[in-house]
Amino acid sequence: MGKKLKDRFNRVITYLRASVTDRCNLRCRYCMPEGGVKFYSHDEILRYEEIERIIEAAVELGMRKIRFTGGEPFVRKGFIEFLKDVHQNFPQLEIALTTNGVLLGKYIDALKDAGVSRLNVSLDTFVPEKYRYITRVGNLKDVLHGIDSAISAGFSYLRINVVAIRDFNTDELFDFVDFTAKKPAIVRFIEFMPLGGGVWSKDRFVSAVELRKMIEKERKLYPLEGGRDTDGPATYYRVEGAGIIGFIAAMTEHFCDRCNRLRLTSIGQLRPCLFSDRGVDLKAILRGGGSKEELMQGIVDAVNMKPAGWWEVIGTDTVMSRIGG
Ligand code: SAM
Ligand code: SF4
Repeated sequence: MGKKLKDRFNRVITYLRASVTDRCNLRCRYCMPEGGVKFYSHDEILRYEEIERIIEAAVELGMRKIRFTGGEPFVRKGFIEFLKDVHQNFPQLEIALTTNGVLLGKYIDALKDAGVSRLNVSLDTFVPEKYRYITRVGNLKDVLHGIDSAISAGFSYLRINVVAIRDFNTDELFDFVDFTAKKPAIVRFIEFMPLGGGVWSKDRFVSAVELRKMIEKERKLYPLEGGRDTDGPATYYRVEGAGIIGFIAAMTEHFCDRCNRLRLTSIGQLRPCLFSDRGVDLKAILRGGGSKEELMQGIVDAVNMKPAGWWEVIGTDTVMSRIGG
């Protein structure tokens, strides 16, 4: 069906993650450095029309899913109108969102109208003081309200992303597991990645295998049949007496062989891999008066730059808030 965008390793690329801003209303310690980052200026970041031109080219090449991320997508002015526009112009495109959830309650009804079908909300702890500590400025109740609003609004594809950090939230694993019994949401534990921020350490890193073993000491886990994301890195289990949990072994498991994505930074660089600073400057094409065909060629070039795996390219200095996770 339609066109297929294939890389040098025969992986089909169908999924674009687009960061609409590097700004954020939180300052998570593992994502942004202590002193914050120097944010890009208004002129540096892509205008919404420019992002839509990239989407047009990407869809024409066979992309079928887009996830908007940040920074925090909701802090960019006009984001909801932009989403509605994308939905109207590309009705066949699946639209997903990754958010810290702080402003979710405020915008949830508008999100439904904008055709957003999948929501990922980041939440690392249920303890208000710990939440304040890890985000430096956040209030836990805002996120919990956001999650409840999403559930009330009927978002059936809701996932909670938890970055697992030893001696920070490993004592709350079962609170997260039990959350899946109380709420119609999937919880996914993500391995802590040494990206920017400088707070990563070996001691604080917990592998997905260790996390699973910790949970299996007290709960029975049943691997879900075909229990992997069709277009993502998670492995899923049903928990006895609870719902579904997943593990994203970003560091320990080489799921690069299943990678199907490209990442667009807020300043218009199209990156073939999360762990590399290299990419194709689509903004230069756009602002140099490039045609749709030239944009499509830029996308193909980025696809051809995809490495076999992150171990070939790791060495990024970029902070997560600029790439969007
Ligand atoms: N602000 C939104 C949010 O927090 O969901 C979207 C952007 S954020 C960069 C996307 C995801 O990256 C979040 O789930 C966050 O927890 C994750 N992330 C950021 N830094 C990370 C790190 N060092 N290791 C693992 N995950 C990280
Ligand atoms: Fe902001 Fe998300 Fe980074 Fe936290 S993880 S600072 S919420 S972009």
